[in-house]
Amino acid sequence: MMAAFDPQRMARPEVLALKPYASARALADASGILLNANENPFAPAIEPTIPFDSPLNRYPDPQPAALKNRLAEIYGTEPERLLITRGSDEGIDLLTRVFCRPNQDRVLICPPCFGMYALSAQVQGASVVQSGLIERDGDFELDPDIDRLAQDCRLTFLCSPNNPTGNVLRPERIERLARAQLMHNGLVIVDEAYIEFAPESSALPLLAQLPNLVILRTLSKAFALAGCRIGMVIADPQIIELLRRIIAPYPLPTPTVELALQALSDDALKIQQRQLAELADEKTRLLKVLRGHPSVIQIWPGAANFVLIRATDGPRMIRDAAAAGIRLRDQSTQPGLENCVRITIGHRAETDALIEFLNQWNAAAN
Ligand code: PMP
Repeated sequence: MMAAFDPQRMARPEVLALKPYASARALADASGILLNANENPFAPAIEPTIPFDSPLNRYPDPQPAALKNRLAEIYGTEPERLLITRGSDEGIDLLTRVFCRPNQDRVLICPPCFGMYALSAQVQGASVVQSGLIERDGDFELDPDIDRLAQDCRLTFLCSPNNPTGNVLRPERIERLARAQLMHNGLVIVDEAYIEFAPESSALPLLAQLPNLVILRTLSKAFALAGCRIGMVIADPQIIELLRRIIAPYPLPTPTVELALQALSDDALKIQQRQLAELADEKTRLLKVLRGHPSVIQIWPGAANFVLIRATDGPRMIRDAAAAGIRLRDQSTQPGLENCVRITIGHRAETDALIEFLNQWNAAAN
């Protein structure tokens, strides 16, 4: 008898062993008040229109010059240092696939951190080494031992402000690590997905002196374009050239590029700055309530558009909030983050609803 067709037996062992990434949108639908994916609650300040003569029957420019030039201008860097990707998720994947040999090279991560660094490494068959962040005086920082551990790793992923702890890394600290890694042929990647909320801490000015430094940026957070899927790798032009060898032939859909250009106009950016100021106000308002809440044990305000808290019963808080139509993100399975909940900052009405929930939850919990 013929054996039953079994794709499980055909798949790569690395893929079978994976715990797939569970995105906020996969875990919960997009209804109610969405404070679980660190998005910008405001729509971009444009009336999205695709030009009538947009050549949708033609393949798009693989790296559209107008968008690349505009991004380079906004970031204060050269277009040759940019690769535009399908979200920064794709940048993480490309870096891992270009630089890590399966069963040979290692990737260093600093948990608690964003899940895609380890996932991309596992898919590639690279091993994952951990240098956990250290919690000190209400903030998180790199373990001093990271410099030693990084020596044997091809890639070191840092994130500043870090998701989910919100802490920023000092550029001098990043510089020290990257400079030492030059001798060990190691790349230091700084994921700056949330840097627009703490622009003074960017490692981007270091790029010109450190050819092994790589910065990841995205339009998904502060630029309110998560639905467009546009991220960037910013690095030495030789690194960009290597990544271009394996990126999909046409990664950027024409409508996406068109809308991103509109959302990056001077006028739209002025409105965006006002939105960011409003989010900072909402964060202050929420923190005040959290600080006075009897069931919130610890708060890490962080520098980004979210806060991390430890509740008396985190999973219950998330369940009860969901029942009230508010989506929060469970972080309790990350190392050292038992009962921790990540809350994205919403706009005024969303913060009002969250505060109302917290006040009632307070009453129910006591
Ligand atoms: N890096 C970090 C730290 C993130 O939090 C996220 C999104 N949650 C990403 C990268 C991916 O962002 P995108 O692919 O939308 O650019």
